[in-house]
Formats: sequence, C-alpha cells, structure tokens
Amino acid sequence: MATQLQTARNATISAEMKSVADRENISAELICEELAAGRLVIPANKLHLKANLQPAGIGRILTTKVNANIGTSSISSSIEAEIQKMEAALDAGADAIMDLSTGGNLDDTRCKLLAQCPVPFGTVPIYQVIEGRDVEDIDEKIILAVIEKQAQQGVDFFTIHAGVLQEHLPLLEKRVGGIVSRGGALLAKWMLYHNRQNPLYEMFDDLCGILAEYDVCFSLGDGLRPGCIADATDEAQMAELNTLGELTQRAQEAGCQVMVEGPGHVPFDQIQYNMQIQQKICRGAPFYVLGPVVTDIAPGYDHITSAIGGTAAAFYGASFLCYVTPKEHLGLPNADDVRAGVIAAKIAAHAADIARGLKGTDEQDKKLSLARSNLDWKTHLAESLDPKTAERLHTEACKEIGVDKLPSADYCTMCGRQWCSVRINKEIREMIKNK
Ligand code: SF4
Repeated sequence: MATQLQTARNATISAEMKSVADRENISAELICEELAAGRLVIPANKLHLKANLQPAGIGRILTTKVNANIGTSSISSSIEAEIQKMEAALDAGADAIMDLSTGGNLDDTRCKLLAQCPVPFGTVPIYQVIEGRDVEDIDEKIILAVIEKQAQQGVDFFTIHAGVLQEHLPLLEKRVGGIVSRGGALLAKWMLYHNRQNPLYEMFDDLCGILAEYDVCFSLGDGLRPGCIADATDEAQMAELNTLGELTQRAQEAGCQVMVEGPGHVPFDQIQYNMQIQQKICRGAPFYVLGPVVTDIAPGYDHITSAIGGTAAAFYGASFLCYVTPKEHLGLPNADDVRAGVIAAKIAAHAADIARGLKGTDEQDKKLSLARSNLDWKTHLAESLDPKTAERLHTEACKEIGVDKLPSADYCTMCGRQWCSVRINKEIREMIKNK
C-alpha cells in the first residue's frame, strides 16, 4: 500500500486527505496538492489508522498544530501518570502526543498510551535503542530492530537525528550550551567513540524503507539545536540544517512524508530568519519547532517564553509547535504542567493563525467578544480556550462579592458595578437605539 505522499503524487485523494479537508474546511484537492509537493503531512501509521487514529494534517495551509511531550524518566516512571498526562494534554486541545519515555517498560508504556491515543503519536526511537546498554554498544542491527518494532506498534512519526554528522562536531567548540538534544548528545558520543559517521545517516535508505512500509512520517531531528540564546543560529545549527535539507529530499524521493524539527532557544529578532531559511533549504517541508524559547532567564515560566517565540515562529513559517511546560529545565512535568504547557502553545498557535488571516480562525474570538460585551457570562466562558480555568476564576471572583448565579452578574470584581464600562456601554447602546 502506498504512503499518503505516494497517493497524493498519483493525484488520488485518500480517505485521510478527505477527513483532514473536512476538519479544516478546505478542499481535498488542495490538501492532495500540498501533500504531493511535500509541504503538508498527515502522520498516520497504517496500523494506528486501523485502530483509533483520527487523521490530522500539518502544513502551512492548515491551522498551526500543537504537540505535547509526555513520557517517563529514568528516575520517575508510572504508566498511570503518563496516561493522566496524555488525558490532560488532549483535554487541553493537544493535536499530537510524543512519548519520550526513558524509564520503566518502554514497550508497555508506548502500547498502553497508543491504545488510548486518537491523535498522531510520535517517539524518538534512539531512546529505546540504548535501553539496557551503553551508547557505545549500539549498532545498525539494534537500531533497525527498534525502529521496525515501533513502526509495527503503530507510531505515526519518528524523530530521527540523522542530520548530526561527524564533521559538525568541531563546530561545537565555541558553544556556550553545547548539545542539549538527548538524541544529538548520544549520537555525538557514539561517533567520537567509534570515530565513525552517524549510523542513522549511514543507514538512511534502510530507514526510509521501514518508514515507507508503515507510512511513518519522518520528523528529522535537530540534534544540534541551540540550547541557549548565545548559540542561536550558529554554524553548527546551520550545518545540520543543510544536511536536513538533503535528507528531506532523499526521504521524499523514497515516498516518505517528512517534517523537519527546529530550534530551540532563539532571540525574537532571529526567529523570522530561522523560519525562512528552513523553508528554503527544506523546500517547504513542514517545520516543527520546540518553542522557540526567546530568553534563557525564566525557568518556571518557559511555557510563556516559548509561547512568545511560538507565535512568531508560526507566523513566519512553522506549522507545528512543540509545547514547553513551566517545568522545562527544572524537572519532569506532571499533569498540571502538561495542561499549562498545552494551553500556552495553543494560545501561541491561535494568535499566529489569526495574524496569518486563515479563514474562519477569528470566528471564536468574535463570538466571545460579542458575549463579553453583552455580559453573557455563560457564552463568554464556554467560548474561551480553557473554559474550566475561566469558569473557576470567574466563579471564585463572583463568590467574593456574593453573586452566585453567573447570568445575574452585570459586572465583575475587576472594576465593580459603578465602573463597569461593559455595562455602561450596554446602556449607551440602548440609549442610542432609543433615540
Ligand atoms: S467590571 Fe470591568 S472587567 Fe468586569 S466585566 Fe465590567 S468592565 Fe469588564
């Protein structure tokens, strides 16, 4: 069976393309064209599709999507906790989930999460490759076996750090933060130990064969992404990006769908350039960015630093934002952190979509604004991005002034009744109407 990319190249509209078109209120022909050009992907493993996957599209003609990373760590692992995190992420509106588990039984965790995951599900297979062994001991056979196994389990997209090459490593000397990607660091250690090229690069054609068979989408990893503002847009990052451009073309020629991962920590003024250069080098393949975080000095608030960067990234060229939680750089996130991270990234994505003028994107904003100016609290809260939090905060505030029933309140505690401009504005409108 053909991949979505091969199907699109034959100018055939698959059920998945049709489903994405319906969800996004866009023509299926346009989805098919963008897919064929490599500018849009539908990460949908054939086996996950047969189970419970609702196909989603990622590309510039569509709304910006948000991914939530979950997963156990080597010192804290519980499948129940990860399922809770996935539920929190989906409830908050995550469009995709990545399981980055490195602790406990990785296969069991992945299979249990996948069985309950209706959205595209991604992994970084190299994490499992080193399970129970030192990185120096891994070889091509082990890598292929893990990748094939995860494809058979139904994973929809794989982060593959094939772009970090031996010749890039000397460029890291001037860096402040070095390598911050786990996959990038593991592969760099392997290359230095064996004095050999990155095995994922060497066996890239074999990987394409496996990914095409199950239609697993490549997410070409940025193992040399800058991990601090000082390292942004440096030589190492750009050298890897050039290799990612070459690999994008090779994978697409082999019939595979491809996304490309991007930075990282980037000052606000460099985001536009980063988005444009990726689009050029990778010929419009969907760009999947982590953040980007626009300052290093806000641990505890990196869902905010990344949302600021995320809006700019999505405005200038990214199609897919990986969330960042308030726990980033500090510890393994819990379900509350996951929720806060997804909401922040959804705000970033939506703000960019409005600014890009995507059809229908601002309809919810208009509905909410109308409800707000009519003091229609029920609709105001229901139309908000996070109705649960909005309702909780409003109810708490109402209780403070002894108003229990929301529809009866024609002001809130922010300004008080006398000073409520929304209420006064309502009166002004009535007066104008009656004149
Ligand atoms: S009291 Fe102030 S904040 Fe509250 S609804 Fe009226 S204008 Fe808005």
